[in-house]
Amino acid sequence: MALMTAKEYIDSLRKLRTRVYLFGEQIENWVDHPMIRPSIQCVAMTYALAHNPEYGALMTATSSLTGRKINRFTHLHQSAEDLVKKVKMQRLLGQKTASCFQRCVGMDAFNAVFSTTFEIDEKYHTRYHENFKQFLIQVQDQDLTVDGAMTDPKGDRSKPPHQQADPDMYVHVVERRSDGIVVCGAKCHQTGSVNSHWHIFMPTIAMGEADKDWAVSFACPTDAEGMYLIYGRQSCDTRRLETEGCIDQGNAKFGGQEALVVLDHVFIPNEYIFLNGEYEFAGTLVERFAGYHRQSYGGCKVGVGDVLIGAAALAAEYNGVEKASHIKDKLIEMTHLNETLYSCGIACSCEGCPTRAGNYQIDLLLANVCKQNVTRFPYEIVRLAEDIAGGLMVTMPSEKDFTSDTVVGRNGETIGDICSKYFGTKEGVSVQDRQRILRFLENLCLGAAAVGYRTESLHGAGSPQAQRIMIARQGNLEGKKELAKHIAGIRRGEK
Ligand code: SF4
Ligand code: FE
Repeated sequence: MALMTAKEYIDSLRKLRTRVYLFGEQIENWVDHPMIRPSIQCVAMTYALAHNPEYGALMTATSSLTGRKINRFTHLHQSAEDLVKKVKMQRLLGQKTASCFQRCVGMDAFNAVFSTTFEIDEKYHTRYHENFKQFLIQVQDQDLTVDGAMTDPKGDRSKPPHQQADPDMYVHVVERRSDGIVVCGAKCHQTGSVNSHWHIFMPTIAMGEADKDWAVSFACPTDAEGMYLIYGRQSCDTRRLETEGCIDQGNAKFGGQEALVVLDHVFIPNEYIFLNGEYEFAGTLVERFAGYHRQSYGGCKVGVGDVLIGAAALAAEYNGVEKASHIKDKLIEMTHLNETLYSCGIACSCEGCPTRAGNYQIDLLLANVCKQNVTRFPYEIVRLAEDIAGGLMVTMPSEKDFTSDTVVGRNGETIGDICSKYFGTKEGVSVQDRQRILRFLENLCLGAAAVGYRTESLHGAGSPQAQRIMIARQGNLEGKKELAKHIAGIRRGEK
């Protein structure tokens, strides 16, 4: 099959028998559910833009496995240029959706699993790499969306998997058969899982020999027998249940999505297994996936940041303060912070190098520095946006008030008339446009999109401390000490 269109992608989801639970009940038609649909439209944008000639070079690539044209979200990066294009593609999608478009986790999993399985096979003569290649060809040819599932619930964080009171705190093998394995456990806050055709499961931490049964990676269709998803709440999410497209939603078209993914005795055939007991490779897989996903944030969050800066500038204009020097300076600061994140995303891509399997990997130190900055700068960007927007962003009456014809005034004025009168600003700016931009800012800074822009900036792709551990490991402090000693004239062993 050629590249899917956005419509074909949405229709393809209808064919799945994915079990989705929301507010304590199973949702049969989750594709059209008003709380879920914006997140589907967001993923659909990764399909739509691939058909747009303006973005063809960014959105598509030539498969290294088949030579066929594929969506870049299913690509194995073949060069530093490919890594740069990935970041640019993510910035573009952030700009078009102001949201998390979810499909990157699969792309990052593909590249991490590809190189890691190659190295496991080298050592153990297993056939995980071949399994993975065959799976990826299927993904590329059918243009599928795949969730990269890594984060286990982890239970008592002081204990490794095999010491947990409940073994399901990490996904593990409960039965080994000649034709495959049976797995149990769960993955938390899985971005885009409901909207994915398949999942790739990976371990979430480095493991020791006693954790062998937990050192497992595999692919599984989202509607597999025994698998189900419990949808995560987001701030202000029930506004999506109000009037369709209402202004109070802020961004009625697009949104992100997370879920708890549960595996209750799911059978995985041998050909979809990529790691099964070779525990020393669990850490490699985690490190590589995290590295790619930390690079990703130097693209997607920057694109959303572009929209946020634009919205803040519009709010300033609508309030009539755009010429004030402190407003201009705040917009400059937001841009500076946003472009610094982008610089990190580009830098770790340009410094990428080939893996033994042949695909390209980012510079791990720079990717971790990128994500560490992402845990901080979006908070400052949001603070400045809220400063510029003013308090009305969080105190404004609802759209229903603005359109209400209930008479409240002495001279027959309606609630709508009163809201329009007191929330009007300068000539030429409609009250509705002001409402729209403030609600949009609220959505980005505090509402559903803030899950993806703010809190996900902190915890997504690993919380800040995870990057600091990697920075410590990759920072080559000993090498830096040698530099200092050399110039300072300090010679080891000499008095
Ligand atoms: Fe992609 Fe960013 Fe969402 Fe991760 S947070 S899936 S990188 S858009
Ligand atoms: Fe994420």
